[in-house]
Amino acid sequence: MELISIAAFTDNYIWMLHDGVDAIVVDPGDAAPVIAALKAHSLRLAAILVTHHHGDHVGGIADLRHLLVGKVYGPAREQIPQPCVSVHAGESLTLLGLDFSVIDVPGHTSGHIAFFLADCDDGKAPILFCGDTLFSAGCGRLFEGTPAQMHTSLQRLAKLPGNTRVCCAHEYTLSNLRFAQAIAPAGPALTRYVAWCEAQRAQGLPTLPSTLATELQVNPFLRCTEPDIVAAATARAATLNPTEPLAADSDPVAVFATLRQWKNDFR
Ligand code: ZN
Ligand code: FE
Repeated sequence: MELISIAAFTDNYIWMLHDGVDAIVVDPGDAAPVIAALKAHSLRLAAILVTHHHGDHVGGIADLRHLLVGKVYGPAREQIPQPCVSVHAGESLTLLGLDFSVIDVPGHTSGHIAFFLADCDDGKAPILFCGDTLFSAGCGRLFEGTPAQMHTSLQRLAKLPGNTRVCCAHEYTLSNLRFAQAIAPAGPALTRYVAWCEAQRAQGLPTLPSTLATELQVNPFLRCTEPDIVAAATARAATLNPTEPLAADSDPVAVFATLRQWKNDFR
């Protein structure tokens, strides 16, 4: 199984998984780069997976239908261009002989799902397609969900195996890392990761997929109980709202909510 990131728009990635004959694509916001990749590798389009309803994730489906030999699979609780097979959390679907499990990750949108492939059948690490929920060193904006929902969703993903290849739908890593470095003193893992990501981008290469183990070290949104992150959020909340500061032993959802709002305001 080959995993490829297809660049689309300014910073999207459309992920493609193929066995040399058939391909699965995830969140095809644009058809043209997918068609080009199918041609370049002489592949058939066997299935489309969709994590959520945003245009930059579903916009290419209509123009891919005529090439599609299989089906479109999308979140049961969102409106995806029809026809589409609705999939629910806990369900597993078998495509190209691989078992994908569906994980509920509301927050960015209310019905957002992720697809997890525990066994790629080739001894390689598991794969997570997480759309706009988990980014490298960051997370998606809360358009439809609450901080509590998003925090729970991220914690759900955080429990997957550490070697999981994290396939996010956007190249936001460097900007996320600037935030991560600004809010708390950077440890050696963060410093090393920044240098690696800068080198990748300088060569025009993706920083993705990341791994879950890396994210647990560098992603502030997964580290809401770590003392450095709690301290940063507590100080930030005290500045913004002196009458209602976070408790020093603040609960992780309050820390997460403070971080997410802070990132929205961060330039
Ligand atoms: Zn989105
Ligand atoms: Fe997006």
